[in-house]
Amino acid sequence: MKRRDVLKSLGSSVVAASSLAVGGQAFAAKPEFKWKMVTTWPKNFPVLGTNANYLAKTIEEMTAGRIRIKVFGANELVPAFEAFDAVSRGTAQMGHGAAYYWKGKNETTQFFSAIPFGMTAQEVNGWLYYGGGLALWEELYDQFNLVPMATGNTGVQMAGWFRKEINSVEDLNGLKMRIPGLGGEVLSRAGGTPVNMPGGEIFTSLQSGAIDATEWIGPYNDLAFGLYKAAKNYYYPGWHEPGSTLETFINKEAFNDLPKDLQAIVKHACKDANMDMVSEFSAKNNAALTTLVNKHQVNVKPLPDDVLKKLHTLSNEVVQEIVDRDVFSQKVYASYTEFQQQATKWSKVSEYAYMRARAL
Ligand code: CA
Repeated sequence: MKRRDVLKSLGSSVVAASSLAVGGQAFAAKPEFKWKMVTTWPKNFPVLGTNANYLAKTIEEMTAGRIRIKVFGANELVPAFEAFDAVSRGTAQMGHGAAYYWKGKNETTQFFSAIPFGMTAQEVNGWLYYGGGLALWEELYDQFNLVPMATGNTGVQMAGWFRKEINSVEDLNGLKMRIPGLGGEVLSRAGGTPVNMPGGEIFTSLQSGAIDATEWIGPYNDLAFGLYKAAKNYYYPGWHEPGSTLETFINKEAFNDLPKDLQAIVKHACKDANMDMVSEFSAKNNAALTTLVNKHQVNVKPLPDDVLKKLHTLSNEVVQEIVDRDVFSQKVYASYTEFQQQATKWSKVSEYAYMRARAL
């Protein structure tokens, strides 16, 4: 049967559908690309894990089903911290995580998730999209056969939950705290003992006194974990994670196999998921902070200025040592700090000045 005869015999709905055809391909075609997305989060983990689901759904909708993505929680296809390798070798086509998990591959990866006393979500997105940050990230991941995309940001985190008050630098001495990454290294130089443990063990360790303190994320996730039942002092601000960027990493061949229109959709869907996560955290943290204070009588307190100053000095030392060890780190950090210096001047007369004015 000729095409026009088929259309005639099937009636007007098919004609209408065919009129939506783009480049000779009808919409709602069979999936052309079936992808697997491995994640570093437990399946459906609030905000972080659900952002991965949201991204998969958005891409499927925007491509009218031409790309189908099956999302795997940690350990479903591969363990959380093997996601990077799995996508690199093509076991899965994409992954969702945070760049600091891959510091064992290359220490510079950490600079693309968070730097203690570094930039906020808004500032870091400025650097990534308009300050050369993303291009450097692409250059770094290229050697692992991956294409990175910024996909979400936690915003400023909280400094964490402490069984005892922190009134001076001396109170950090001997403090056993669950705090991973660069922040942990900083705490160790302040005389504390950083501990790393899976999320599921944090609550009982804090409650039993096996650890004196823990950081996690912010009010929404911390409330869900029930951390307020184990410690009452909730300190701010999250100096160690002022705006942690989450990421998608895509197998390079898989990405290059996509036609240009689908590549553009994937890229823009990640950008949309990036914005969506900041918005979701903003809404849910607002509400959860109120619940923690009003319903659970949590003491929300600022870390003392001299403690923050000390942590800041130590953070600069820790980061500088990484930079001194590695040429590419130097390049990334130079770009990051140059942008941060400018951003700080601008933030001082915009966000910071306005926040202050609003609170007068
Ligand atoms: Ca954290």
